[in-house]
Amino acid sequence: MEIADMSLHTMLCWAMIVTGAFTVFGLSKYVTAPYGRHSAAGWGILLDPKLSWFLMESPNLVMILIFYLKNYGLSGRLPPAANCVLLLFYGGHYVNRSLIFPMRIRNGKKMPITVMLAAAFYCTWNGYIQSKTLLELEEYGDEVLSSTQFILGSVVFVAGFTINYQSDEILRNLRKPGETGYKIPYGGAFKYVSCGNFFGEIVEWIGFAIATNSLSGVAFAFYTFANTAPRGASHHKWYLEKFKGEYEDLGRCAVIPFIW
Ligand code: NDP
Repeated sequence: MEIADMSLHTMLCWAMIVTGAFTVFGLSKYVTAPYGRHSAAGWGILLDPKLSWFLMESPNLVMILIFYLKNYGLSGRLPPAANCVLLLFYGGHYVNRSLIFPMRIRNGKKMPITVMLAAAFYCTWNGYIQSKTLLELEEYGDEVLSSTQFILGSVVFVAGFTINYQSDEILRNLRKPGETGYKIPYGGAFKYVSCGNFFGEIVEWIGFAIATNSLSGVAFAFYTFANTAPRGASHHKWYLEKFKGEYEDLGRCAVIPFIW
């Protein structure tokens, strides 16, 4: 297909894959995303972490609403059943990430405004391509619900979501009220990796890409890997230095169990 023949949606999906390739390279070689334990000066004013997570992740939910209203109006009609399941996966993740996760952050570090704005830009972009796929471009037939690909993708998604959610909970509970320091997390995926939350997130969106059978799903999964894998590598290195003499004995990988 010539570039001129591509729809804006297809171009935005490919652009996300290309941006992901630059992101994984840049975050691995030149800069560590400067928030949380890797906070650094020079990235703009610092914002409350709860507000930052809400502002940067909620564009995904806004896009679902916009595309629903655009294509279904106030009719109250629902998309086909398989689309509804996929919207539940995608929307459910972002209800957690935009609303529940921020409310439950315990003594998190402030976030530089540039990080918040970059993430909000990505979430608007991603929200547009995922919502357009699920609420405008694709109408999955009911037979999809019982297809091997859809069931496999759904199982992988739910497994990833569970790992991600459980890992977020383990990290949150490391701090007692008032504490701001870092401890070694144990349990769940942390038995195998330093960053169970990032591992779960990557698995989730690979499952979503399989279930949606879409270029937008592939772009999302790839960008998630590009964004979280280098951060996971930085966290792993940080744990090895911070808990020297203790951490290496745990034999954990950085993000992918038994592999890396
Ligand atoms: P981190 O693991 O860096 O931090 C998560 C929270 O747990 C922070 O509040 C952090 O506090 C706290 N925490 C982490 N480790 C410890 C520890 N050892 N001891 C005590 N507290 C700890 O994750 P992120 O903030 O980068 O990401 C949060 C969620 O968002 C994850 O589930 C991740 O998968 C998801 N995410 C998704 C992305 C995507 O592209 N789809 C990109 C980035 C994140 P503090 O702030 O003080 O460090």
